[in-house]
Amino acid sequence: MPDIDLLVTGGDIVTMNPDREVLMSGAVAIAGDTIVAVGSTSRLRAQYPGARELDATDCVVTPGIVSAHQHFTGDPLVRSVIPDTITSGPAVFDWSVPLHAVHTGDDDEISALLTATESLLKGVTTLVEAGTVAHPDRVGAGMHTAGVRGTVGCWGWDAPGVPFGGTADEVVDRQRAMLDAFPPGERVSAMVTLVGHSLASDDLLVAASDLAKARAVGMTMHMSPSPSDTEAYLASTGRPPIVHLDDLGVLGAHLLLAHCVYIDDAEFEALLRTRTAVGYCPWSYFRVGSGVTGHGRHGEFFTRGGRIGLGCDAINAGDQVSVLRAASLAAGIAKDVSVDPSWFGAHEALEMATIRGADAIGMAADIGSLEVGKKADIVIHDATEPQWVPRGDVVLQLIWSAEGETVRDVFVDGVQVVAGGKCLTVDMDALRSDANALGRDLLARAGLEVPHRWPQIPAG
Ligand SMILES: [Zn+2]
Repeated sequence: MPDIDLLVTGGDIVTMNPDREVLMSGAVAIAGDTIVAVGSTSRLRAQYPGARELDATDCVVTPGIVSAHQHFTGDPLVRSVIPDTITSGPAVFDWSVPLHAVHTGDDDEISALLTATESLLKGVTTLVEAGTVAHPDRVGAGMHTAGVRGTVGCWGWDAPGVPFGGTADEVVDRQRAMLDAFPPGERVSAMVTLVGHSLASDDLLVAASDLAKARAVGMTMHMSPSPSDTEAYLASTGRPPIVHLDDLGVLGAHLLLAHCVYIDDAEFEALLRTRTAVGYCPWSYFRVGSGVTGHGRHGEFFTRGGRIGLGCDAINAGDQVSVLRAASLAAGIAKDVSVDPSWFGAHEALEMATIRGADAIGMAADIGSLEVGKKADIVIHDATEPQWVPRGDVVLQLIWSAEGETVRDVFVDGVQVVAGGKCLTVDMDALRSDANALGRDLLARAGLEVPHRWPQIPAG
């Protein structure tokens, strides 16, 4: 038998393999960055005598959790600053855009490091950055430091008068440079990223899509979290946005559209037919009151075989980078809007957070399940915590009870990045100090103040 680097032993392994087997008191063998065996602890101990072991007794072991849509910059340094009593338009254009516009490279790197650290501590090991990044090299550096897996992009829009804008050719050149700087196959790689909505010309949409297809990489952008994108496309093209994208030839398996809350039947069917993926961010819609419970059909999209993963969007639109928390909400929405608990539950939600999410972002060959040959992205949940006592069905408990709150250890590419609930790759004291200082400076440069609704009384 070849040497291995680590044997994770004695945990209940939620494999997410095609049969969805849960191996009670099982083991996972890791060699380098790869899972080389999954099976019974006693059998793997015999197979790899003397291997270094990590005891996962009384733990639940899952694949690394996947986020299909996460902004790494803009909001992280101003957490809980943007009021929760305004609609998404003012939240974006009165707050997020001015903050993004004055971001320095340091802001971007510390924002990314903070986001990546929070992600890992909640078991989220792979994230698709949403593409609102001014300094992608610095965001990539922050992701590398934390040790998270993911994709990064740079701002892509050619609407008039926007920060970080440009002509369609200029925007595509920047995207091409990103693909060169962060090539496929690396732990941090690039995706073609447009802002989306109605903020791209047809020329840019087609050229960006052609670039992604030619390089065999993904492309992502936002569409229809609210009715405004439909209104804009109907006015400019006479068609709803996803039908228009279909006519342009932009839809396809390379494309990941965030949101898709307000879509009509033709758009829904076009997404299914073209294998276009959706990034579903339920907490974001709740935070800004988007109306997802009245208009979203994400559960139905999932059960009809649509490619869909979960995301947490921006720090001031959902607030926690916790995909398992989003998963429980996704299950709750599906049940409640249909007044039917029978068709979508914790098991479907966990699929969305792992193997189906990995498929939605084009990485299912490498991540999303604990199977031989896949990357060793592994989360160990401490099932001695109260959320797990006493033990019931492991998937119900993972989604409805523990969410991401009991993460003990995390591995990405076979490297341990979280141990005992602490991030090993990050000096948290230094990060806290840097983020506090940069956050204050960022607000001042943007001309914004924390808008406290209740009186803040110095009482020291
Ligand atoms: Zn977004």
